[in-house]
Amino acid sequence: MDLGIRGRTALVCAASKGLGKACAMSLAREGVNVTITARGKDALEAAAEEIRKAFGVKVTAVPGDITTEEGRRTALAACPAPDILVNNAGGPPPGDFREWDRDAWVKALDANMIAPILLIRAVVDRMIERKFGRIVNITSGAVKLPIPELGLSNGARTGLTGFVAGLSRSTVKHNVTINNLLPGPFDTDRLRSNFEFNAKKLGKTAEELTRARAEANPAKRFGTPAEFGDACAYLCSAQAGYITGQNLLLDGGAYPGTL
Ligand code: NAP
Repeated sequence: MDLGIRGRTALVCAASKGLGKACAMSLAREGVNVTITARGKDALEAAAEEIRKAFGVKVTAVPGDITTEEGRRTALAACPAPDILVNNAGGPPPGDFREWDRDAWVKALDANMIAPILLIRAVVDRMIERKFGRIVNITSGAVKLPIPELGLSNGARTGLTGFVAGLSRSTVKHNVTINNLLPGPFDTDRLRSNFEFNAKKLGKTAEELTRARAEANPAKRFGTPAEFGDACAYLCSAQAGYITGQNLLLDGGAYPGTL
């Protein structure tokens, strides 16, 4: 299926590794020119080169912390009017809410709620003028099924979800859609670091926890970043203009509810 986005431009945040990189790869495969960001310059340049070589599109690498004003300014300077925006950043650390002071909450809100909202604000009106825009926020399955030790993530991402639920209904008439992708367990560095955190707490090895968690999933495995990237590319396609304000859970069936 031709997704009808060849020649479009995308700003994909936090995309040197993991799910963000997979989104950039899938979009590039569809002929989209991508601007990617991450804090670490070396991994970012390596990802950019890999995408260029694989798909022959224009790839611009912009180092910076997307949760800061400066990081967003440089990303938007490189890609001021994207047709596609993929919002992503690292997730907040796990822990006990008794340990989190105001600064910890402000940091989590900055990364996983306020940064995506400010990026949407920066690009959405030009998408509306051009009558095409696709915005995808990478959130978490924890929005539907909270993970107790990821309270910072549960809280901040739910705030973003509420905001998007309202805005997305007012932009769709201009062919500008805003949706959230909710990853369950995907095989990335982030997932592995969560297992290492829990392994220490439970007196088990990270390998034991990894095996048990994969076995507990109805799919008996973790998702692959490529599966995630392809779902993102579909939501960014020309054909997906009637899908907005949705929260698409990609979790191998782990969420047990009917809806
Ligand atoms: P990952 O493999 O650790 O990759 C994170 C990417 O984001 C890296 O490229 C990293 O590069 C970049 N990044 C992190 N913080 C950034 C910042 N402040 N500014 C710019 N770039 C930043 O993580 P992932 O598994 O892809 O996770 C992506 C998002 O999905 C996270 O928010 C995570 O919490 C969420 N999630 C993941 C899973 C899962 O199973 N993988 C499940 C639920 C939710 P630098 O470190 O160099 O900046």
